[in-house]
Amino acid sequence: MDLKAYNVLAEIPGTDPTLKSEVVMLGGHLDSWHGATGATDNAAGCAVMMEAVRILKALNIQPRRTIRIALWSGEEEGLYGSRNYVKNHFADPAKMELMPEHEKISAYYNLDNGSGKIRGVYLQGNQQVRPVFNSWLAPFNDMGAKTLTIENTGGTDHLSFDAVGIPAFQFIQDKLEYDTRTHHTNMDTYDHLVADDLKEAAIIVASFVYNTAQRDEKIPRKELPKP
Ligand SMILES: [Zn+2]
Repeated sequence: MDLKAYNVLAEIPGTDPTLKSEVVMLGGHLDSWHGATGATDNAAGCAVMMEAVRILKALNIQPRRTIRIALWSGEEEGLYGSRNYVKNHFADPAKMELMPEHEKISAYYNLDNGSGKIRGVYLQGNQQVRPVFNSWLAPFNDMGAKTLTIENTGGTDHLSFDAVGIPAFQFIQDKLEYDTRTHHTNMDTYDHLVADDLKEAAIIVASFVYNTAQRDEKIPRKELPKP
């Protein structure tokens, strides 16, 4: 019996001679709770992130930075997949000795709050990113995605990156029946997914990832956390 859990990763390679060694990451957790099939937590998030990458691939964009998707394992037990990836590639939050890849990642985007529409982004205390994301959300304001809150949100894999000072963001989503019905229950099944919301989410994520890959500078960072 294999007691290990595995992350799933894939890339669209960057093409800019100087920026292709840098990455923009997106992801969500692939593991789920045992009560049902985990449709809203978190097949929905994985499907959106995979669709965002499919859209970018189908458009045959030549991103300046490398685009890397990660579908994490072990999230439900304590963000194990993403925490260990961050520890192996960027920094151990207990020591904060930065590895070379730490300066090569621009941002990480996460989706893990069910099937609801994207309404904006939790800025995770990073005020400098507000004007950037404001302009990136502008094309989607008429779809109802226009909120930027300085607040933190917890409970999922962007925290692993935030813990070592990498800009990392969870999107704000409509709650629908996530808290009241599907989250970690035997009702977390396919019929609770809203296909149109997920399609819209994939478009917004694809746009954010593309903009991050093309931007001259990396996403502005908060002060590095102490070990
Ligand atoms: Zn989840």
